[in-house]
Amino acid sequence: MKVVIIGAGLGGLSAAIHLASAGVQVTVLEQNATIGGKMNSLAADGFTWDTGPSVITMRHVFEALFAHAGRHLADYVQLQPVEPLTRYFYPDGARLDASPDLRQMIAQIAQIDARDIEGYLQFLAYAARVHRITGPVFIYNEPPTLASCWRVPPTDFLKAGVLQTLQRRIQRYVRSPHLQQLLGRYATYVGASPYAAPATLSVIAHVELAGGVWYPRDGVYALAQGMARLAQELGVQIETDCPVQQIVTRHERVCAVVTQDGRRVEADAVVANVDVTTVYDTLLPHTASVVRRLVKLKKQQVSGSGFVLMLGVEKVHADLLHHNILFSRDYRCEFDDIFQRGIPPRDPTIYINITSKTDRQHAPPGCENWFVLVNAPPIGDRFDWHTQAAYYGDRVLETIARFGFDVRGHIRSRHMLTPLDIARQSGAWRGALYGLSAHGRFSALRRPHNRCSDVAGLYFAGGATHPGGGTPLVTLSGQVAANMILRDMGGSIQRLP
Ligand SMILES: Cc1cc2nc3c(=O)[nH]c(=O)nc-3n(C[C@H](O)[C@H](O)[C@H](O)COP(=O)(O)OP(=O)(O)OC[C@H]3O[C@@H](n4cnc5c(N)ncnc54)[C@H](O)[C@@H]3O)c2cc1C
Repeated sequence: MKVVIIGAGLGGLSAAIHLASAGVQVTVLEQNATIGGKMNSLAADGFTWDTGPSVITMRHVFEALFAHAGRHLADYVQLQPVEPLTRYFYPDGARLDASPDLRQMIAQIAQIDARDIEGYLQFLAYAARVHRITGPVFIYNEPPTLASCWRVPPTDFLKAGVLQTLQRRIQRYVRSPHLQQLLGRYATYVGASPYAAPATLSVIAHVELAGGVWYPRDGVYALAQGMARLAQELGVQIETDCPVQQIVTRHERVCAVVTQDGRRVEADAVVANVDVTTVYDTLLPHTASVVRRLVKLKKQQVSGSGFVLMLGVEKVHADLLHHNILFSRDYRCEFDDIFQRGIPPRDPTIYINITSKTDRQHAPPGCENWFVLVNAPPIGDRFDWHTQAAYYGDRVLETIARFGFDVRGHIRSRHMLTPLDIARQSGAWRGALYGLSAHGRFSALRRPHNRCSDVAGLYFAGGATHPGGGTPLVTLSGQVAANMILRDMGGSIQRLP
């Protein structure tokens, strides 16, 4: 059996590792010059930046992936805990260092509002319960079905808060606006607003606040490189600079793909590690059923995108840590800008990641490598990134300066990623970082399935399919797609972690 995987993002690499471990012949065709997709790296002027993910959670997912292939994660990537998790700066001057260490966290909360200590502990217990209840149905297994949902007692679903928004649920536990903003921020880990996303997203708070955040030594990109190395050791062929132009079908079943240079690569099955809407729009032949599905997909709300500045800063800031958040004054208005008005937030919450705090070689002596990320709307007609990105970048730097970190006269190197770049570099539909929107009570049920229902032999892995976006989830999605192929083709099934 031969499987072609389109895209060497984490979902594609994970599918490749699982299939190759089962003895399948696998070829990965990647359009970019490098593997990794959104997880990538940039070096310039003596600085190195990770250009995509910087917060790695759910370490056990990556450990299970390597263990499945009979290897140890630590032999490929050294994951080190990041502690404190994040330093939060508020516009009123308050600060909080979030930590998975309860004693530390309680001490921090006591400085903000001691009355919230009890509520925070209750929130953590609630988030752990959501993980226990929803994990088997919505995260760690194949896409949810009516049967798998029925197996969960209805009272459990109610306990998980499926009918409430995340913000509502948080307000039930903590009263301080500072802590509410901190906990609500976890919705943005899947490009959503806490005011519209279901309370079940508190599962993200659980995996970070209870499980911790990990930083791969030498940079987050080392994780993608480790996965690619493992895939290649298992016999996977990875071809970069190789855009796929078309998925070829015969009697509504995949039989090959054609690359941009006209080469036809035969396949018994294809895994598209590309946004599902993009696959329907640009790679599949437009049969009646494909067009019908595409029309439906295009009508769906998509997740948020991001605006990134990568700065080589000629200064060292003792007050900043590896992960930092500078919160906006009005969180609701920020999400209204993004999701109602379709513009980047006028007063944004700003994330600053400085890996040179941990990896000194990522910046020259006396300097820091800043990765600055702001939530942004998916590409639309209300904001023109072509003409306004540089100006918006300056506004972001102005806001950072208001928090006491004015780097405007100290920038040796400046690079930018807009939603347009993200769409072009990864195939993300409208530049959405996490596929379809997580807003609404039933968003997890609306997510496109890993097995394409319109074209036999086509499977999906990555952030736009089940179980969702973010590095651990796309890694799981590759396993789900691989399992489906093995089952459909009569191969052996692998257990999910
Ligand atoms: C700025 C930013 C910050 C983020 N921060 C975090 C974070 O802190 N933590 C976290 O967990 N996640 C984060 N994410 C999300 C995370 O990066 C993604 O969910 C994950 O990496 C996506 O993996 P994927 O499998 O969907 O593939 P992608 O990374 O989307 O890769 C898809 C691959 O397919 C290739 N491709 C597309 N079309 C074709 C074609 N026609 N032919 C050949 N190849 C093709 C692309 O070039 C790309 O390499 C962030 C993302 C971004 C952009």
